[in-house]
Amino acid sequence: MPAIAQPLPDDIAAAVEGLIAFARAEIQPRHERYGDILDDPRRRFREDGRLADETVEIIREMRMCAAEAGFYTMCVPESLGGGGLGHLAYFAGWQALFHHCGPHHWLMLYAISHWAFGPSRLLEKVGPRAREEILAPLMRGEQSMCFGLSEPGAGSDVQAMRTRAVADGEGWRLSGRKIWTTNSPIADYCIVFAVTDSDRAAERRGGISAFLVPTDAPGFRIDRVIRMFGSIGGDEAELAFEDIRVEPWQLVGELHDGFRTALYGVNLGRIYNTARAVGLGRWALETALDHASQREAFGQPIAAFQGVSFPLAESAMELHAAHLMGRNMSTLLDQGEAAVKEVSMTKAYAVEIGVRAVDRAMQTHGAMGFTNEIGLTEAWHALRVVNVADGTNEILRRTIAQRLLKGDVDI
Ligand SMILES: Cc1cc2nc3c(=O)[nH]c(=O)nc-3n(C[C@H](O)[C@H](O)[C@H](O)COP(=O)(O)OP(=O)(O)OC[C@H]3O[C@@H](n4cnc5c(N)ncnc54)[C@H](O)[C@@H]3O)c2cc1C
Repeated sequence: MPAIAQPLPDDIAAAVEGLIAFARAEIQPRHERYGDILDDPRRRFREDGRLADETVEIIREMRMCAAEAGFYTMCVPESLGGGGLGHLAYFAGWQALFHHCGPHHWLMLYAISHWAFGPSRLLEKVGPRAREEILAPLMRGEQSMCFGLSEPGAGSDVQAMRTRAVADGEGWRLSGRKIWTTNSPIADYCIVFAVTDSDRAAERRGGISAFLVPTDAPGFRIDRVIRMFGSIGGDEAELAFEDIRVEPWQLVGELHDGFRTALYGVNLGRIYNTARAVGLGRWALETALDHASQREAFGQPIAAFQGVSFPLAESAMELHAAHLMGRNMSTLLDQGEAAVKEVSMTKAYAVEIGVRAVDRAMQTHGAMGFTNEIGLTEAWHALRVVNVADGTNEILRRTIAQRLLKGDVDI
């Protein structure tokens, strides 16, 4: 019996079914084939923390295979040459992949173009020359991107950024630093946000612009790869820009209106992370249900103890709510609504209950819950960080409260 009354539209349901078949045919076999590299951090990363060349090549091959199969760009607008499936498909596709693949088969991260690493509706904001120069290899999955917004001194309060693009002839000269930029160590382009009008930026009336910068531009430097949770490598890095020349064609969106572009991107991230929390949370719950049914203590399966089964029932209630909220938020966005309050409520709720679901599954497993074999620790790490990334839980509550106090009280 379906748990959700409103089925997905036929085209999205078919895409989701196709993605699961793709995971079985192309993602899982790659993990078997390349397991010695992908599962061993000593081979997956280089000593400086970057992904090893072999890993980068496997990821590129995965992206290109997904592009060839039509999944990679299925949610990219048709105006950019994509499948134009929209926000609900983006949510449903990611949710299904995370649920099906769990944390072990992480090449699934490259099956659909991630909004920050590959082509997305964000690229509708680039001009004709940029489309000409960068779009085709991005759509084929050959190349990738990253999104440079946060800085060492400007995270939640991102408008306090210090990176500057100073007008120089027809273009600009860009200097500053970014931090936590995911995928930057292997990306070909970075969308960099910089102050272009200091007065307006100081008054918080715009004054920030977005630029498309090739990562091999003179003056573009990756200062360090950041290691999280004791990992020996990572996807996030700290970047430095020294007097990089930027031409008018590299402007993304309107001059001085980059903050709107940034929020647009971050919004897509909130959909992605909601889907990730629901999908990985469901995977963790099912893993815990299996274990609780098989593991015996005091002469019976531990599932017979309410102390074990009730927390799992709690996870089911919360995941169901987050799943419905995710579907609703995506549908509102497809209907052209800004859905600021709904996106904020959904992302904050989903990532909090997603971590809780994984944590409860760990407890259900006893000591086994903390081993690398089960994968719960990876799932916990993945979801714990998204309680901060793409808007912290506190900043999202601030946005919700602001909307409520402005009279947006429809719940
Ligand atoms: C895994 C990961 C990947 C990321 N990837 C990217 C990326 O690709 N590109 C990018 O640009 N950024 C990225 N980020 C950065 C992310 O967007 C920031 O970490 C986030 O915006 C928070 O900023 P901060 O870490 O500086 O925390 P801070 O802003 O310093 O916040 C510290 C604490 O204070 C709280 N706080 C701050 N202001 C308020 C307030 N007004 N009310 C209540 N509480 C408040 C916060 O909620 C938080 O708990 C990533 C982060 C992570 C963890």
